[in-house]
Amino acid sequence: MTDVPESHPRRASLLTRDLIVAGVEAGITSPHGLIAHGRGEAYDYLLGEASGPWALRACEAAAAWLLAADHPVLSVNGNAAALVPAELVRLSRITGAPLEVNIFHGSRERERAVAAHLEAHGAERVLRPEAGTALEGLDSNRRYVHPEGLLRADVIFVPLEDGDRCEALRRMGRQVLTVDLNPLSRTSRAATVTIVDNVVRALPALIAAAERLGGETDQSRAARIAAWDNAAALGEAEARIRSGGG
Ligand code: ATP
Repeated sequence: MTDVPESHPRRASLLTRDLIVAGVEAGITSPHGLIAHGRGEAYDYLLGEASGPWALRACEAAAAWLLAADHPVLSVNGNAAALVPAELVRLSRITGAPLEVNIFHGSRERERAVAAHLEAHGAERVLRPEAGTALEGLDSNRRYVHPEGLLRADVIFVPLEDGDRCEALRRMGRQVLTVDLNPLSRTSRAATVTIVDNVVRALPALIAAAERLGGETDQSRAARIAAWDNAAALGEAEARIRSGGG
């Protein structure tokens, strides 16, 4: 790990970068994940490396969807597993949504490594794709899913998603909740709820929102879902970037 002094103004960003590098070294994250992370860092820099009000509201909308769903699933890729493994396990416990490994640059070995990493952080069960079970309408390795997980999911939380899959899942009628620092990405635009924030800050906020909303009535969660305007939230984040106030 990099020896980052406590006083370094971008310490949090550099430590997060170390987690991704460690993920690659451990066979959890693909080398391509480093590039995706770098793109995220650039947007985080422009957003001031802080969670905006749009992100905190999006966490509440996403929590409402997860708690209202019949079959919610948390879809985990190599970057998310490296950055927020314990938080994903905690979110799974609170919402009852199973964790399922789904990676773009597929290999059985890496799927096993992601699952083992989540288990080392307390997960009791991690679903992995099954060769005979595929989602129609998806071409990449990511079409393979678990029959008890993504195959039947109505609401899918998938941080750091790629645009093709997000659009395909939406076409299939699934609700997609994502975390993406780029408010202009296809994923951000196609998702039901986009949390424009760094996943390392978004997950604790999402967990807190799920804990708060756990005590709410179905009606009040439904009202939060109905009131959510994703395009408006993306517009706020984009305005923040364009203002140069980051
Ligand atoms: P799209 O296909 O959705 O138009 P893309 O090709 O940029 O976008 P990918 O490279 O598949 O998408 O995924 C990277 C996305 O994840 C980028 O939008 C990037 O900003 C975002 N991202 C990367 N790291 C983080 C992070 N730590 N927290 C939140 N978002 C991140």
